[in-house]
Amino acid sequence: MKVLVLNCGSSSIKYQFIDTGKKFALAKGVVERIGMNSAILTHKRYDDEEIKIVGEILDHSIAIEYVLGVMLSKNHGVIDDKDDIDAVGHRVVHGGESFSGSVFITDEVIQVLQNNIELAPLHNPPNIKGIQAVKRIMPTTPQCGVFDTAFHLTMPPEAFLYGIPYELYKKHKIRRYGFHGTSHRYVSIEASKILGKDISELKLITAHLGNGCSMAAVKNGKSVDTTMGFTPLEGLLMGTRSGDLDPSLILYIMSKEGLSINEANTLLNKHSGLLGISGESSDMREIEAAVKDDHKRAKYAFNVFAYKIKKYVGAYSAVMGGLDALIFTGGIGENSSLVREYVCRDMEYLGIRLDSGKNHNKEIIISEDNSRTAVMRVPTNEELVIALDTAEIVTEIKEKEAV
Ligand code: ADP
Repeated sequence: MKVLVLNCGSSSIKYQFIDTGKKFALAKGVVERIGMNSAILTHKRYDDEEIKIVGEILDHSIAIEYVLGVMLSKNHGVIDDKDDIDAVGHRVVHGGESFSGSVFITDEVIQVLQNNIELAPLHNPPNIKGIQAVKRIMPTTPQCGVFDTAFHLTMPPEAFLYGIPYELYKKHKIRRYGFHGTSHRYVSIEASKILGKDISELKLITAHLGNGCSMAAVKNGKSVDTTMGFTPLEGLLMGTRSGDLDPSLILYIMSKEGLSINEANTLLNKHSGLLGISGESSDMREIEAAVKDDHKRAKYAFNVFAYKIKKYVGAYSAVMGGLDALIFTGGIGENSSLVREYVCRDMEYLGIRLDSGKNHNKEIIISEDNSRTAVMRVPTNEELVIALDTAEIVTEIKEKEAV
């Protein structure tokens, strides 16, 4: 099956056109600056040079028309007809408590997404816009939604409830949801295959470290805890996000600095994290370069970043009653041997013995052969999971219809 995977943000749409049988991306690209008259579409067919098209792309519908236009084009295209797209799979950020897995998109599903807008005011509206645009442009093409939150719905109440009045959970749905679920699910399954073990027998910790960062405790194939919470701000230190804080300090900063709710939100989401501590950059490559130059605040930023990961490895091992493998993924997790080294230092008590050579050579299993707990580097592929889930759901529906 050939699936168009869409990740619709407020001013951008990332896309991949994936052959699910071959698990191969035939084309990929991004539309940026949607809403402006100088929006840019960057497109790359698997065997072609990257191309850029500038145009007036005022909304998501026009952006998707542009994507289809380039996919149909003679020189850079991959399809002859819109019908060559068998299905569309959407990354949807927030499924709330409604979806514990990927779904076929119907009008009822769109309604539930709309009901969940309050939980993800920045993310769900553009996701819905993308779904509605596809519905208008390709009305007969099946669409599926794959949720960032779904994998974590297996968390028990002790992991998802906050220490606030229970009525607020019931009334406003305030609880831990967790994000990056597609990635945590994918790398835990991949890791179990690489280890040659059944996932239902494994205790895994997955660390997705990109611009946004989160960890998950995956016991017997199910997420039992994760570091992101009600929003993707909680947990680890990130590029520009603070991660865990004493909640009172937000009120304190607001009163001391005279900040509005919006300004405080921006401070914690955009000016904190690696950027806030270092004062230099939100990009780990630049932080590491500054650390080598002995930049004091960059060192603090790096150490806080890695320390928090280490702390959660301990916490999640305790939660699961042991650990079989620690898995790193995402731009930092896959590429930074320094972060992995810091996290794994002095962890022999947990059976972790990192092999420094394998770590630097970016092998997949980077622990020593006799390490009781495996340490792994597993590249994530969220688009592939979205395409595979979509293909599975659509195939199932077609089979049922054929009966
Ligand atoms: P996103 O969360 O936006 O998908 P990525 O998963 O691509 O982001 O991760 C981006 C992060 O990965 C940046 O902080 C970047 O500096 C970091 N990164 C990429 N390559 C390296 C590298 N070789 N060494 C250290 N960090 C890296």
